[in-house]
Amino acid sequence: MLKINEAYLRSGLFGLQDGIVSTTGVVAGISAGIEDKTVIVMAALVAVMVEASSMAAGQYTSEKAAHQLESNAHSDNLVVGALIMFASYFLAGMVPVVPTIVLSQPLARYVSIGGAFVALFVVGYVKGKLVSRSAMRSATELLVIGGIATIIGLVVGSIFRV
Ligand SMILES: [Zn+2]
Repeated sequence: MLKINEAYLRSGLFGLQDGIVSTTGVVAGISAGIEDKTVIVMAALVAVMVEASSMAAGQYTSEKAAHQLESNAHSDNLVVGALIMFASYFLAGMVPVVPTIVLSQPLARYVSIGGAFVALFVVGYVKGKLVSRSAMRSATELLVIGGIATIIGLVVGSIFRV
């Protein structure tokens, strides 16, 4: 059986989850607040790149601290873990970003949010399976988290509408 390194798995799942949740919140919020498509796409891409980099740096430093505390318990490479975080965050961020690029508003917003919920459900389900917890429960948990972030984005975007 394939043995997945626990640190890589954690990094990948966290990146996927956060990439979907934060980027969908940003896309939903900005598209609710402004009509200009280029502004929405640019803001979403900036958010994805900055966040993916920041999460990769966070992954590197937090995992490094864990290695220093328990030096024998780790076989993972810090740079690989950081790259997995960046790649999974970026890929997941594309779920709400691609409809925003391809479609026009408000359809793009609905497809982004719908796609993000489907992707969150899948990630939650796989995560539950991998850690041998209830897959449905894990999937539902991610949907609730994603829903809250999206609602916050929509509310803030609507309040500051230009
Ligand atoms: Zn480690």
